[in-house]
Amino acid sequence: MRLDGSLAEGVDPVSAMGDGAVQAAWQRVKRRLRAELGEDVFASWFARLELQDVEGGVARLTVPTRFLKSWIESHYLDRVLATFRSEADGIESIAVGVRGASAPPRPAAPKAVAAPRPVPAMSAPALPEGGEAERGSRHAHAHPPATGEAGDLGGAPLDARLTFESFVVGRSNALAHAAAERVARTDGGPALYNPLYFHAGVGLGKTHLLHAIGHAVKMAGRRVTYLTADRFMYGFVNALKTQNALAFKERLRAIDLLILDDVQFIQGRSIQAEFGHTLNALIDAGRQVVVASDRPPAELESLDERVRSRLAGGLVVEIGTLDETLRAQILLSRLEAVRAAHPSFEVGPAVAEYVAKAITANGRDLEGAVNRLLAHATLTGAPVTLDTAETAIRDLVKNREPKRVKIEDIQKLVASRYNVSRSDILSERRTAAVVKPRQIAMYLSKVLTLRSLPEIGRRFGGRDHTTVLHAVRKIEKAIGEDTALCDEVELLKRMLQD
Ligand code: ADP
Ligand code: MG
Repeated sequence: MRLDGSLAEGVDPVSAMGDGAVQAAWQRVKRRLRAELGEDVFASWFARLELQDVEGGVARLTVPTRFLKSWIESHYLDRVLATFRSEADGIESIAVGVRGASAPPRPAAPKAVAAPRPVPAMSAPALPEGGEAERGSRHAHAHPPATGEAGDLGGAPLDARLTFESFVVGRSNALAHAAAERVARTDGGPALYNPLYFHAGVGLGKTHLLHAIGHAVKMAGRRVTYLTADRFMYGFVNALKTQNALAFKERLRAIDLLILDDVQFIQGRSIQAEFGHTLNALIDAGRQVVVASDRPPAELESLDERVRSRLAGGLVVEIGTLDETLRAQILLSRLEAVRAAHPSFEVGPAVAEYVAKAITANGRDLEGAVNRLLAHATLTGAPVTLDTAETAIRDLVKNREPKRVKIEDIQKLVASRYNVSRSDILSERRTAAVVKPRQIAMYLSKVLTLRSLPEIGRRFGGRDHTTVLHAVRKIEKAIGEDTALCDEVELLKRMLQD
């Protein structure tokens, strides 16, 4: 704070306290936050929060990154203000800013420094995404965005809500969570489980865990790139086009942690080969790679066998479906988060229990349900009762994600519905009586399971994936034109899913 003696004494109580006194008050605030919030929360969010000065009742606090700034602003501002006010008179409000306009300091944790890390042509503005994206935006004037530039890895930003803090641990994801934490906590030594590979159906928290790892590692001042499969492919194809492939690869290999989401979408010969090289280079250099997919490595048909086995060579963890307790906890934490922004939004325990029981599919639907309830409450201004909840989430309950269905069960059911045998369906026979049920079974396999076309082909007596594709298209078209068939297929779906 500016206390140059020209300030009239007594005008501003904080000024009157003197610079040292305010800093001392601030230190007390930090100690209290640490005691009240616990070491973990404090270390994550407040350890690097500093008081710059107090002027006109405004306490100006600074943090090293924008991410920290927005997190503190959205989650802890009131709390920090209240604590500060109780320690020092005359504080009216708080403003959080980002320290160091040009190159925000990396925390010089001794371990991070000790870790050998190549420093190639990776100047600050060219760093990939995230904490670095903050840097990118500050450099926006000096360096106009260069699409396809080698420095642009096309990394996606991390979602501030998806942290370890907001991740609820239960039986089905405990192992995945533990592995994620271990990897996030390693401090620059050789990567622990490499790659760490998560797989699970949709909405079970894969992306959430990936982001949580990303945040934590980034907070430790290490270089993180989060890419979805399509971003990886896009970035790579782009680099090839602009003949920057080499630079792109170099850049990829110069990061500490590569996170790749939805790798099941990586395909194409040259791209998957490059993916393989990238994977090998990173892992061989001891860099951590974390990957998520909707299936285990062995079932990634679009990838070469060597790439698959490299992916399987670290730690592979499946995340199971959410049991009711876990669903209830996720729901409660979601409700709490929403209530932070909408204090009047009340959902009683009976309603929460109902929703957790009704929405069985996945976390995404739970999130959808909370949004429905909120919209309902906001629009009608009425409290959320069991009745209104039921109406609000009705379609979510019906349109839940298909549960995992086995191809074998589909074949059995369809065969019995059409009076043929399962071996007829798998056979080479091409009579109409067999072809139609076979095609319907293939179609159902595509829409009700996560299996790829080649995999489905194999399960149908070793047929080619183009045959499966043909069947899927044909039935899709027929359903559009023939309501009886449409009903029939709907019925089969329901029978398989219940
Ligand atoms: P996936 O990537 O596996 O399809 P996501 O990570 O996108 O699933 O999760 C879908 C939604 O469910 C997200 O809003 C996520 O925050 C939430 N979610 C899933 N699992 C959990 C969990 N264990 N704790 C808290 N939220 C969860
Ligand atoms: Mg995901």
